Amino acid sequence: MTSALFISDLHLDPARPQATAAFLAFLAGAARDAAHLYILGDLFEFWIGDDDDQPLAREVTAALAAYTRGGHACSVMRGNRDFLLGPRFAAQTGARLLPDPFVAGIGGEQVLLMHGDLLCTDDHAYQRYRSRVNDPRLQRLFLALPRAWRRAAGAEGRRRSRRRAAQQPERITDVNAAAVAAAMRRAGVLRLVHGHTHRPAIHAFDLDGRAATRAVLGAWYEQGSVLAWTAAGPALHSLSFG
Ligand code: MN
Repeated sequence: MTSALFISDLHLDPARPQATAAFLAFLAGAARDAAHLYILGDLFEFWIGDDDDQPLAREVTAALAAYTRGGHACSVMRGNRDFLLGPRFAAQTGARLLPDPFVAGIGGEQVLLMHGDLLCTDDHAYQRYRSRVNDPRLQRLFLALPRAWRRAAGAEGRRRSRRRAAQQPERITDVNAAAVAAAMRRAGVLRLVHGHTHRPAIHAFDLDGRAATRAVLGAWYEQGSVLAWTAAGPALHSLSFG
């Protein structure tokens, strides 16, 4: 049995039903081989709050609830798109919300889990934006707005972020090597798993004279991306849609 599976950056959105269908099929199928499923952020393209009554939110919540009721553990980290996932979502799905960063014991090793945006320290404008939207007072104000307003704000934010991403050089939006090393030293680990950059790979490198690895999860755009951690270590797999 696979000890743990990792996914992130599904960016589930009513506009891309193939990704949602692939995720629901994954939960009902391959994910049941694992004792623990970790979702490392941006499961949703946007999360307006746990009171979302739209079909996508209801469908995904019900599927995760069925998964955890089946005896599988599920842990969910918030990403930069679904940072408003909250306690009601956790209660309804049976999933545990993880802080970012978080160190998990996986197959006898200590593994640092992050969404990944905290490591993109070269993107100063993004880091300023991140600290603003993570302000709990601002979040409370936003959650008090009518759902339709929050949905409209989410759509506008996505348009802005797409325009910005198209103007940024690749290097700026990738992780910073010094930030990676610092986060791993702080956590006292040689293994890191993160998403966010949509550049799936397993990087081997030297951390203070020891062999370290950084596994990067892929986005679920043209296909799914899954990291399976078995007795042999981590391996990336892609999952075709439909
Ligand atoms: Mn992200």
